[in-house]
Amino acid sequence: QLHLDRIARLNPEINAFVTVDAEKSLAQAQAADARLAAGDAGPLTGIPIAQKDIFCAQGWRTTCGSRMLGNFVSPYDATVIAKFDAAGAVNLGKTNMDEFAMGSSNETSYFGPVKNPWDTQRVPGGSSGGSAAAVAALMAPAATGTDTGGSIRQPAALCNLSGLKPTYGVVSRWGMIAFASSLDQAGPMARTAEDCALMLNAMAGFDDKDSTSLERPTEDYCRDLAANAGEKPLSGLKIGLPKEFFGDGCDAGVMARVQDAIAEYRKLGAETVEVSLPNMQHGVAAYYVIAPAEASSNLSRYDGVRYGYRAPEYADLDDMYCKTRAQGFGAEVKRRILIGTYVLSHGYYDAYYLQAQRIRRLIAQDFVDAFKRCDVIMGPTSPCTAFGLGEKAADPVQMYLSDIYTIAVNLAGLPGMSIPCGFADGLPVGLQLIGDYFAEARLLNVAHRYQ
Ligand code: GLN
Repeated sequence: QLHLDRIARLNPEINAFVTVDAEKSLAQAQAADARLAAGDAGPLTGIPIAQKDIFCAQGWRTTCGSRMLGNFVSPYDATVIAKFDAAGAVNLGKTNMDEFAMGSSNETSYFGPVKNPWDTQRVPGGSSGGSAAAVAALMAPAATGTDTGGSIRQPAALCNLSGLKPTYGVVSRWGMIAFASSLDQAGPMARTAEDCALMLNAMAGFDDKDSTSLERPTEDYCRDLAANAGEKPLSGLKIGLPKEFFGDGCDAGVMARVQDAIAEYRKLGAETVEVSLPNMQHGVAAYYVIAPAEASSNLSRYDGVRYGYRAPEYADLDDMYCKTRAQGFGAEVKRRILIGTYVLSHGYYDAYYLQAQRIRRLIAQDFVDAFKRCDVIMGPTSPCTAFGLGEKAADPVQMYLSDIYTIAVNLAGLPGMSIPCGFADGLPVGLQLIGDYFAEARLLNVAHRYQ
């Protein structure tokens, strides 16, 4: 109730939630009370979680930030939602997001931009901007996000949160509306690494309904949080600093805070080594071929026939498709569908799509080589702090560069985190931590030690 009251008070300005249903949330809270009384409670029982509106939740409107799904009430639960339910968590509402998770500022949402609680003239980042703003404004203690090219880490950085994108395949994508299937991964956004670990415990696990879900033994992601306490808790840890993260292109204020954080890590006993990710410079270009290619295929299902929006007036079937998609999708989504269709078409496939896949392989190999020399890679999450609403909206390439430090991690399928590391000109700065495959527990421990 406390959180619902706060949402009622702050959401009209912040616009972090698209859908709130107090009755449903309070019914879940009551069920959690009963579990607590029966001694059947886990760490998340009764904890309200804001859910990104990309996760289908039974009986809840699930819009994915789009007019296309503006009236869609899901008949089933995503695996992530079902897992939070099973843990006794309370669904606090569905959070605003860039349309179909395409964006870095939350300005492509059909439901209007989200404002950054640290400065309401600025963006919260995206695409999980509603989730980030909800937690930053204390409307929710924690939220889910999804990260295809940076959409958990970049908004976490811009809103002073901890956010984790797990290794591809660790969290089920079933019921999570697809953007770019080979890159999409869900993860937690919260105030601390410890909260992220508790959430990941609930979210992770094999799911036979997702063919890319990985069958691995269950892990306790909290297990390392208490490890190696003492004066030099991180002695022996090797931090790799890729020279490509520390060149031009990052705001001086952001870089200063990142360097401070690294100095702090040295005090905690860690050693630093320079590493190199020579193909990272092509990451954004490769991503903007691969992600739109997959999106153009995934979004072909929105045809006005089966579910979602349908244009009210049309002449025949083809006209219905055309009008439905013309009216249902926003400008950025259309841009991605056009790019994706183009790079997959005969005559361009080899030049763009295949070439991008080769670069993707080289980038993944760069990380394999780097992790021979270090345990964790660190650098900035975002090249700048929260930018002004409207500042980059008219220039897609400027917007795409927001993810210059995060995209390579998705192309390689690695786990990545952003944690708060201070302020530049009064705005939050994020430190990015990248781990080797399945190193989530270690990343969380390294983050926790700093916090
Ligand atoms: N900003 C990137 C894009 O627009 C990444 C979005 C995401 O991670 N969902 O595609």
